[in-house]
Amino acid sequence: MDESKRKLNEYEMKRDFNKTPEPDGKEASLEWARDRPVFVVQKHAASTLHYDFRIEVDGVLKSWAVPKGPSTDPSEKRLAVPTEDHPLEYGDFEGNIPEGEYGGGTVLLWDRGSYRNLKEDPESNPLTKQIEDGHITIWLEGEKLKGGYALVRTGKAENARWLLVKMNDREADARRNPTSTEPNSVKTGRSLEEIRDSKD
Ligand code: MN
Repeated sequence: MDESKRKLNEYEMKRDFNKTPEPDGKEASLEWARDRPVFVVQKHAASTLHYDFRIEVDGVLKSWAVPKGPSTDPSEKRLAVPTEDHPLEYGDFEGNIPEGEYGGGTVLLWDRGSYRNLKEDPESNPLTKQIEDGHITIWLEGEKLKGGYALVRTGKAENARWLLVKMNDREADARRNPTSTEPNSVKTGRSLEEIRDSKD
């Protein structure tokens, strides 16, 4: 079993692919991805609304659930709770997970694009190391989110928590509030309600 398959054990254990329309992870590719690693943000109306922030690292999507969603304001620190690795093809997923299934509710593909490593010495600071060290800095080229973002782990062991913060650069904007002004899907243009009411 290769490394990225092993990482997806938890993802597979939590889901019944006869019941959920979510990808089973066997494709392992994205149509829109080019040569750069990808990121996606999925708005997920499950038991509580949150935004799943995912970045491609070593063949899987490393994932965090961000209750308030990403901000473009560097003074806003958004709690980001690590969740299980997702298959790369999850970056295309939008639709309805049946009630009663894990993560039951509506998923909207809120943003997508590529990212690059912002460390001064990226060769000796690959993303796997940044995750281990609890300090990630990346530049996003999304349709809604652009510029530098940091994901920083604070606290120890069971008190550890991650924060997602916009870095102070030319793309920072305290007045923009894309989670409320640009709520619709970048894949289909649909609203959460339109996806929920569809047969997807
Ligand atoms: Mn979620």
